[in-house]
Amino acid sequence: MMSVDHLMNTYARMPVAFERGEGAWLFDRHDRRYLDAISGIGVCNLGHANPVIAEAVAEQAGRLIHTANLGHIPLQESLADALCQISHMDRAFITNTGAEAVECAIKIARHYGHQRGIDQPSILCMDSAFHGRTIAAISASSPGKLQQGFGPLPDGFERVPFNDAKAVEHHLRLHPACVAVLLEPIQGEGGVRIPSDGYLSAIRKHCTEHQALLMFDEIQCGLYRTGQAWAYQHEADATPDVLTTAKALGNGIPVAACLARGAAATTLTPGSHGSTFGGSPLACRTALTVLQQMQALELGPHAHRIGTTMLDAFDRQLGNHPRVAEVRGRGLMIGIELHDPATDVRDFALEHGVLINVTRERIIRLLPPLIIDRQQADQIVETVVEGIRAGAH
Ligand SMILES: *Cc1c(COP(=O)(O)O)cnc(C)c1O
Repeated sequence: MMSVDHLMNTYARMPVAFERGEGAWLFDRHDRRYLDAISGIGVCNLGHANPVIAEAVAEQAGRLIHTANLGHIPLQESLADALCQISHMDRAFITNTGAEAVECAIKIARHYGHQRGIDQPSILCMDSAFHGRTIAAISASSPGKLQQGFGPLPDGFERVPFNDAKAVEHHLRLHPACVAVLLEPIQGEGGVRIPSDGYLSAIRKHCTEHQALLMFDEIQCGLYRTGQAWAYQHEADATPDVLTTAKALGNGIPVAACLARGAAATTLTPGSHGSTFGGSPLACRTALTVLQQMQALELGPHAHRIGTTMLDAFDRQLGNHPRVAEVRGRGLMIGIELHDPATDVRDFALEHGVLINVTRERIIRLLPPLIIDRQQADQIVETVVEGIRAGAH
């Protein structure tokens, strides 16, 4: 019996429920299989029921799950080492969810401002941004549906258009109390928006000039999805001061991190921030195993190769289609923007056994697990192309 009567009505759900998974496949209770091109929103990047992850989770659960941050947690220290090594950051705060990693970044920025004698520090954010669902995270996100009805929202969040480095420079010049710039190097929920070449490094330069922290939210685009460990690495000289990661870090076990370097790394001190669950032995053991697997399987280069093949195929087959406004992507983060709502394509794909996502109503978003093979990639492309062609225009 399925009933949503006792759930708060926060999701428009697809009419499907899964019982088990295997790699890029999900199975419902009739054992019908679906090819997963969403990965639980960019989370299960090593695939479902990954045996190496399952083994690590089970072994750690049988040994020690949680101790709180009252004593030392060696696995947390190892995870911080591993994350700093792949990001060139100095320190990590390990937490549970993306929104909490963003909260930590916001608190670092404000603390950093106060330490410089700025009473009312502000953070510059982007239009069509998404940073999570807590009150501070929605304040940093795109105004509109996310924020509506949740006021009063905290002050101290300003906004400029995404992909406009001049607007950032202008804002920083006019607002000396602006202590940080927060953005997604590729906007996810905003519709797989990829900024122009040179945008991130220009913002890096402006932040340095105006002593503002550059804070990248790589919760969706990071961890090898775009081919590099971090999406900002597609540009030279765009290293941030603060970097958030979450989604794929635990392959489904909640774990997230806010990484920082330089002054930003030592802003928080004992008592100024914390988390009961954050950085548990279970979460950290899982994340360490995820990072090891991603590196051992060379999933960055794999995501680049497979993603490029998919993008080329979409371009070839949809480039001139009247419904399609734009095909864009990097690695296995792919968006197909239509001129009309894309829900029929999602429904068509579901009927044909492929799970895809639609964001901002008109943008088909594909975030398949990074372990997909050529054949699975071909099936996703074929189904999406058919679904777009099948729809009325
Ligand atoms: C998903 C997401 C978040 C929020 O993560 P939660 O784990 O849902 O809190 C924040 N930023 C970006 C870019 C995201 O994609």
